[in-house]
Amino acid sequence: MIRHTIALIMIACMLLSACGTKVETTPESTKPNDDSVTSTKEQQNEPTSTGTSEKQTTDSPSSTDSDSNTDQASPSNDETSLTEKEGTDNAPDSQVAEVNIEKTYHMNANYYIKPNDKTSESKVVLLTFDDGPKEEKMINGLIDTLDKHNAKAIFFVNGYRVKSHPELLEIIHKRGQVIGNHAWDHEDLKKMSTTAAAKQVTDVQKIVKDTIGVEPQFFRPPFGSGNDALKATVKKNGMLYMTWSNGSLDWDKSTKNKPEKVIQNVLDQLNPGSNILMHELPWTVEALDELLTKIEQKGYTFVDPRSIELEAR
Ligand SMILES: [Zn+2]
Repeated sequence: MIRHTIALIMIACMLLSACGTKVETTPESTKPNDDSVTSTKEQQNEPTSTGTSEKQTTDSPSSTDSDSNTDQASPSNDETSLTEKEGTDNAPDSQVAEVNIEKTYHMNANYYIKPNDKTSESKVVLLTFDDGPKEEKMINGLIDTLDKHNAKAIFFVNGYRVKSHPELLEIIHKRGQVIGNHAWDHEDLKKMSTTAAAKQVTDVQKIVKDTIGVEPQFFRPPFGSGNDALKATVKKNGMLYMTWSNGSLDWDKSTKNKPEKVIQNVLDQLNPGSNILMHELPWTVEALDELLTKIEQKGYTFVDPRSIELEAR
C-alpha cells in the first residue's frame, strides 16, 4: 500500500515537472537587433559640406557648380558656434584680455574676406605676414606701422622659430596683433604622411598656447600646399584654413630689396576682400607705411582678423 502511494506521488511529481519545463521554455526566444537603428543615426549626422563652398562662384573660375543647389547654411553655422565656444575656454589662461569681437565677416572658398551682410563694409583687405618670428626690429617696425594705420594683421609663425625666440611671439601678442599657425617646419605638408602633417599643426598649437596662453585660430600651410586630410586636421583644431588671394611677391627674387615693387604688386591685385600675403622681410617693413596709405586712399579699410568667422563658406 505504502509502495503504491510512493509510486503515485513520484508519477505525479514527474508529470508536474514535465509541465513546468514546458512552460519555462516558451518565452526564451528573440532578442532585438538594434544595428539598423544605429546606422540610420550615423547617416543623419553626416555633414554635407560640399554645398557651403559653392556660394561664391563669381570669384572662382575653377569651382564646380554641380552641388550648388544643396547650398546649406546650417551645418557650417553649427560648427562655427562650436569652435567659438572652444575659443572662449582658453580666455582665463590668457595674460592679455580677450576682446569679444563680433563675427561680421567670413572667408569664401577662394580665400577672399566677405561681409556677412550689407551693414558691413565690403571694401576691406586682410593683412598677413608669414614666416616669423625672426627679428625684434622687423616685428616692431611692422607693428608700429600697423598701429599708425589702426590695423590688425595675422602673423603666421613657424613652430621652430617660436621655439628659438618665444619672446618675439610674446611681443606680437602683447602688442595686440593676431598669431596664426604656419606649421612647425617650413616644409610641404602635402608630401608628408597624414600623421606627420597633423603633428606639424598640433605642435605649433601647443607651443603657442604654452607661450602666450591662447591657441592660434588661423592656419596657413607653407607654400599654400595642403590637402583634404590637412584641412580636416586644421578644422579639428578649431582653426580657419587659408592660403591667400593677393600675393605681394615679396619673397620672389624680382622683389628682393625693392619696397616699391611690393607696393605695386599688391595694388595691381587689389580687390574687395583681398587676402594679402606678405612676409617678415626688410623691404616689406620698409614698404608697409606707403602701401597701407595707398590702400586707404583707394577707399579700403583693414579687416580685423578676429571679426572673421572660423568656418569658410
Ligand atoms: Zn611661408
